[in-house]
Amino acid sequence: MAKLIVSDVDVKDKKVLIRVDFNVPIKNGVIGNDNRIVAALPTIKYVIENGGKAILLSHLGRIKSDEDKKELSLRPVAERLSELLGKDVKFVPSNEGAELETAINDMKDGDVILMENTRFQDIDNDFGKRESKNDPKLGEYWASLGDVYINDAFGTAHRAHASNVGIATAMKAAGKPAAAGYLMEKEIKFLGDAVDNPVHPFVTILGGAKVSDKIGVIENLIPKSDHILIGGGMAYTFLAAQGHKIGKSLFEADKVELAKELLEKAGDKIVLPVDNIAAAEFSNDAKHEVVGQDIPDGEMGLDIGPKTISLFKDILKDAKTVVWNGPMGAFEMSNYAEGTLEVGRALGELKDASTIIGGGDSAAAAIQLGIADQITHISTGGGASLEYLEGKELPGIAAISDK
Ligand code: AMP
Repeated sequence: MAKLIVSDVDVKDKKVLIRVDFNVPIKNGVIGNDNRIVAALPTIKYVIENGGKAILLSHLGRIKSDEDKKELSLRPVAERLSELLGKDVKFVPSNEGAELETAINDMKDGDVILMENTRFQDIDNDFGKRESKNDPKLGEYWASLGDVYINDAFGTAHRAHASNVGIATAMKAAGKPAAAGYLMEKEIKFLGDAVDNPVHPFVTILGGAKVSDKIGVIENLIPKSDHILIGGGMAYTFLAAQGHKIGKSLFEADKVELAKELLEKAGDKIVLPVDNIAAAEFSNDAKHEVVGQDIPDGEMGLDIGPKTISLFKDILKDAKTVVWNGPMGAFEMSNYAEGTLEVGRALGELKDASTIIGGGDSAAAAIQLGIADQITHISTGGGASLEYLEGKELPGIAAISDK
């Protein structure tokens, strides 16, 4: 069922609650990376340019103590947002009570306020984690503050929290609209098209440390993909399942049987590394060498090798849809970054293909390479995009009104 989106709702003169994802890195009050703030701008601008009052909510980090509250205030975000919008953004240092309600009542059309970190509600109360465990009363309270609710926080869509599922549920119960923002709409469109309606050949590339994190994705995408290229630490459990020696590479003993089953189910769709870069230590200073599918005793595979890079590139060159999640090696160390960077470059060079990167480390690699603008879509939500690729219904999306 298609979901209601922000451009479907009338925001003029309305108090519009917008759940954004401003979970940005902040150290000593300085924002390390404002990508998520920039990503929320289209929805915020739509609301204020169309005469609405934008009331923003977001979580930031995890709150377990009063000490955390000092570090995890959204105040610096309000300042950055104000610069990006070129207009004053009022920061309200609470997210419940008279100060917030007065600030909202004083708003004029086109005004923007940002309330304090929603996870400040996770301590110092009888319920416990009111935000993170979705206290329905908190969702009802926040819903009571607005006429329209927009959820633009894809990054938390796989969690049922008060500020996404709680508010949306209460809004709908009160006969008020709960719509998806532009960023959420974009995520649903690109990830949804890839999973439900891929143009073939459809190639899935999976890497990263653990098989266990990606089992659901592999199972869901085996029948839909033409090829599943596996690199990174997770490849060694698969190579072990095929009877190869893996030395002291990353290995999940309890997943070997499952890896065998997946290899059997996938037939020749799953493509494993045919060579590797191996070293005796998990260190950039360690002596490293190119080895085949068997890793010598006492060494570990830390990147895919040159033949594997060529093989993966060869498969990728005809692809029309590509989904990539997880690095091909321990790419934080320059000696083991080549596989990840080459896969990123190959994606950047594809013409007429829809290329989707599922957040996290692969997104960082694309940005490091300066090819982010050559990728069709880089998801803003690592965990949420993985669950989407697993074919799961995300509670934050399910709670949005249907069209
Ligand atoms: P994930 O969070 O599952 O995507 O895993 C990313 C992490 O896996 C990165 O920090 C990489 O350094 C690490 N990684 C990838 N390949 C390997 C490998 N072959 N051996 C050890 N760590 C790896």
